[in-house]
Amino acid sequence: MTFTNALPATLSPSRLADFQTCPRRFQHASVDRIPQPATYATVKGRFVHKILEDLFALDSESRTIERARSFIPAASLAILTEQDRSDIKMDDEMEEKLLRETEAILTQYFAMEDPTRINSTGVEIRLKVTAEGVPMVGILDRLDREADGSLTIVDYKTGGLPNRNYDSQTFANTDLYAAMCEESDDVNELPARIRLYYVAFGEVIERTVTSQVVKARTTAAAVAWNKINKFYEAGEFPATPSKSACRFCAYQQLCKNNNIAVPE
Ligand code: SF4
Repeated sequence: MTFTNALPATLSPSRLADFQTCPRRFQHASVDRIPQPATYATVKGRFVHKILEDLFALDSESRTIERARSFIPAASLAILTEQDRSDIKMDDEMEEKLLRETEAILTQYFAMEDPTRINSTGVEIRLKVTAEGVPMVGILDRLDREADGSLTIVDYKTGGLPNRNYDSQTFANTDLYAAMCEESDDVNELPARIRLYYVAFGEVIERTVTSQVVKARTTAAAVAWNKINKFYEAGEFPATPSKSACRFCAYQQLCKNNNIAVPE
């Protein structure tokens, strides 16, 4: 078959993760451009990210929990769109739950670090680079300059804690962000570490960035980009159903309609 839409001109770490999980999911999301309905978890994630983004737009001494709370109405306006409310069937009870959980996350977050002491070089940093021939784009939550002069990538996670047996998977996206920082003219430096903030649990998982891992991630992205182009030319991205891949996939029904054996 020939696709109606052009192949995306760039690859983001999350789209790469789609492809590596199941090429058909990448096809539906990035080539067919079939919208993925919001879920409560994705809305909550964007809601909290917006508040923390606004907090870090302030001068460091103004970053108090009261100011963070003051950004909740703006987050409601920006994130709780009619479309998202409809996707997740948001009623008053669900909205109250979201506000309750946001308050708990803010309390946890301020117990994890004091944002008035953070030297952030930027938040929601848009990176656009070409590495090993792969045109990559992505938005970094936060990039901090430490007292010793090194850089730290900070990524907020509003979901559950990861299984530490799969750290390589947990850091896959942020390793690529590290590669993009090094390639980017704006940053032009390899961050020394990645810090994942599991803000609902008050836990931080950190790891040192190494050139070897960053190189391996970039090479894997180049291999994937090559395959993406081949599958696009061939007119089909194979489906690789599995319990873990399909569990949270928005395209389950579509695949079932196409006689793909989606595990229950
Ligand atoms: S439901 Fe499973 S097989 Fe179908 S696109 Fe999603 S991950 Fe792939």
